[in-house]
Amino acid sequence: MSLVLALWLSTVGNAPLWFTMLDLPESNHPGGWLGIAGLGLMVLVATVAFLSLVIWPRWRKLAGLVLLAVAAGNSYFMASYGVVIDPSMLANAVQTDAREVRDLLSWSMLPVFLLGVVLPGWWWWQQPVQQVPARALVLKQIGLAVLATLLMLVMVWLSFENLASTMRNHKSLRYMVNPFNTVYATTRLVVGQTAHASQAVQPMGEDATLLGRVIDVNRSPLIVLVVGETARAANMGLSGYARDSTPRLKQLQNRGELVYFSNVSSCGTNTQVSVPCMFSGLGREGYGKTDAQFENLLDVVQRAGLAVLWLDNQSGCKGVCDRVPHTETRELKDPELCPDGECFDEEMLRVLPDRLRQLDTVRRARGTVVVMHQMGSHGPAYYKRTPTDFKVFMPECRSNVLQDCSGQEIVNAYDNSLRYTDHFLGQTVAWLKAQKRPTALVYVSDHGESLGEKGLYLHGMPYAMAPREQTNVPMAAWFSQSMLTHLGWDRTCWLGRATQPITHDNLFSSMLTLTQVKTNLYSPQLDVFSACPSGLRQAQGAVTPWPIRVEL
Ligand SMILES: [Zn+2]
Repeated sequence: MSLVLALWLSTVGNAPLWFTMLDLPESNHPGGWLGIAGLGLMVLVATVAFLSLVIWPRWRKLAGLVLLAVAAGNSYFMASYGVVIDPSMLANAVQTDAREVRDLLSWSMLPVFLLGVVLPGWWWWQQPVQQVPARALVLKQIGLAVLATLLMLVMVWLSFENLASTMRNHKSLRYMVNPFNTVYATTRLVVGQTAHASQAVQPMGEDATLLGRVIDVNRSPLIVLVVGETARAANMGLSGYARDSTPRLKQLQNRGELVYFSNVSSCGTNTQVSVPCMFSGLGREGYGKTDAQFENLLDVVQRAGLAVLWLDNQSGCKGVCDRVPHTETRELKDPELCPDGECFDEEMLRVLPDRLRQLDTVRRARGTVVVMHQMGSHGPAYYKRTPTDFKVFMPECRSNVLQDCSGQEIVNAYDNSLRYTDHFLGQTVAWLKAQKRPTALVYVSDHGESLGEKGLYLHGMPYAMAPREQTNVPMAAWFSQSMLTHLGWDRTCWLGRATQPITHDNLFSSMLTLTQVKTNLYSPQLDVFSACPSGLRQAQGAVTPWPIRVEL
C-alpha cells in the first residue's frame, strides 16, 4: 500500500520537478535522462522511508489524503507561478487570510484537485486496513524505513558528484521535491515558532530619548512612513521606466521636494520576512540569524516619547505594531472607497485625521509617526487594486490565473496598481502639506514582483536565487518646507546618497534621524541622510556642532 502511494507521489505528485528537470541544459545531452531517472529513484526510495515512518494503521487513510493534497497543491502553485516551497513561503501561506486565498483560487485548480487528490484518494480510501500484531508491524515498518534509508545513502554516494553539481546550479530544485519541501518547511517553522513562544520580546533601544523640546499638539512634527506592497522599482516612472506610472511623484521630484532612491534592495522576497525585518534594526543578516523576538523601530520611537500609529490596509503588521496603537482599514464600510467589501489604500488617508486625534495628547505634542501599510500591488489579482478612474494602461488582465492573460495585460494591470499608489502617495503629500506643521513622507516597498520574466510570477523566491525583479524596490522621501527648517536641512543634502546602493537595513537609522530619536542603536553609516546636518550625530559625539532647531 505504502509502496503504491510512494510511487504515485514520486512520479505524478512531483510532475513540476520532473518537467523542470527535463528542461535543464544538463538533461539535454545523451544520457541526460539517466540523471533524471536516478533522482526519480532516490525520491521514490526516500518517500518509501518517509511513509514507513509516518503512516500507521490508525491514521493511514487520513494521512494518505493529506499527503496527496499537499503534493497536488504544491504542484499547482509551482507549475502556475514558478514558486517553490521553502520555510518563508510556507510562513506566508500560513499567515494568509480568506481574501488572499480567494484571490488565488481559480477553476483551473479543479482538474488538478480531481486528478491529484480525488481519484487516487478514492482508491486509497477503499483499501482495507490490515490487522497486524503491533510488534510485527513496528518491526516491519521500521525495518523498511531503515532499509530504504540505507539504499538511499548508497545511491547518493554513487551519484554524488552529478547530483551535487545539479543541485548547486539549480538551487530551487531542492524546494521542489514533494512532500519533503513541506516537511522541511513545517519543521523549520514549528521549531522557530516554539522558540518564539517560549521567549519574551527582547527590549531594544532602552536608552531612546528625544532631541529637542515639547512644542504643542498642532505644531509638532508629523512623519508618515508608507510601507508599500509588491511594488518593484523597474516599473516606477521615477526609475526611468518607459511608462509614466508615477506622474505625481515625478512632479514633486522636479520641484526638488522629493528624493527618489534608485537602487534599493529589500530584506526578503515576501511580506512575512521584509516587513518585520525592515523595522527590526537588526539588518537582513542579523534578522535572518535570530529566532528571538525583538522590539522594533516603532517601540524605540514610542519609548522616546513620540506618538505612534499603524494603519493597515493589508493582511496585518506581522507583529511590528503589537505594542503601538493600530487600526485595520481593509474591511471598513465606505461605499466610495470600499466598493466590493475591500478598501482601496486611500481609505487609510480618510480615517487618518480621526485616528490621530485619538492618540495621547502629551505624546502628540512631541511629534507623531504614522505607518500606513498598503494593499499596493498585491497579486495575482492586480486589477482589484485600482479604482476604475486610475486604469490608464489597457487592456488589463482581469483573471487571477495569470497564465490566462497575455504578458502585456499582466503588466498593464500591474502598472495601473502602481499608478494608483502614485496617486495615493500624492494625496498623502497633499494632505501633509495642508497641515500647518513640519511634515515628511517616507515610502518604501516591501519586495518586488516577477511578472513572467524567466517563467516566474509573483514573489517569494528564496533570497539567494531570487531575481532582481523581486528584490529591487522603490523608495522615496518627501519633506515639507517647515520640516526642512525644523531639521536644518536644505534640498540638496540628500542628493549624494540617492543613487548609491542601499537596502532595507538603512531604514532604521534614517528614521531615527528624521524623528530625532537618540539611541546607541543609531548607525551613521546606515543613515541615508548622513550628509544632512543632524543633532543626532552631534549628540552621539560627532564633531560638527549643530543647533537643534525645534521652534518654528
Ligand atoms: Zn508584500
